[in-house]
Amino acid sequence: MAEAGDLAALALMTRHPERFVWIDETGSAVKIGSSAADPDAYRKHNLWIPPSVGWSTLHPRAQRLLADVLLLLNLTEREGLTLDDRLQRTNRTELPPCLTRDRSVLRPERTVGKPGAAEPGTGCLRGCKFELCPYPAKGEQPAGELREPFCRHQQVLAARRTLRRERAGWQGMTSHELGRFWGAMAERTRTPSKGDG
Ligand SMILES: [Zn+2]
Repeated sequence: MAEAGDLAALALMTRHPERFVWIDETGSAVKIGSSAADPDAYRKHNLWIPPSVGWSTLHPRAQRLLADVLLLLNLTEREGLTLDDRLQRTNRTELPPCLTRDRSVLRPERTVGKPGAAEPGTGCLRGCKFELCPYPAKGEQPAGELREPFCRHQQVLAARRTLRRERAGWQGMTSHELGRFWGAMAERTRTPSKGDG
């Protein structure tokens, strides 16, 4: 999937994923989730995908690619990594094996403040050159926390039979594993971290 890799790399290098087709900044507001959602929460989280953006109108394959690009952005745009670090670790045209092969190493359920190896790079699969895992902990505020509806939607996509047949070339895990990962990603947005946000 050289194309996916290129797109991901481009989004990453430009730091402007919204330039890519899948985000329609000017489009009419697409309500995702409840209308009673707290607007402060959006501001607080500095979302890559603001609530007004119509990701839900994209082709499922584009949604799937978008999700993985956003994961990569969140892995990269974090405290403790200098700009040099970031460029050095991500200046590649493929996605990290921790995204493509085994997402359990991202440990999306991890909470902040737990002892143990958590520095970027300490959780990677053997041979991973990106050195970005694990994923920022819950409460560590990644650049743009992915919201629950988005994650749930990815979970649904993972299980969809037509999509399973034409599985994204870069996703080397089973649809079950992928679905479980997105379930965990959705869960982490449910319980707001107290006091450390
Ligand atoms: Zn890795």
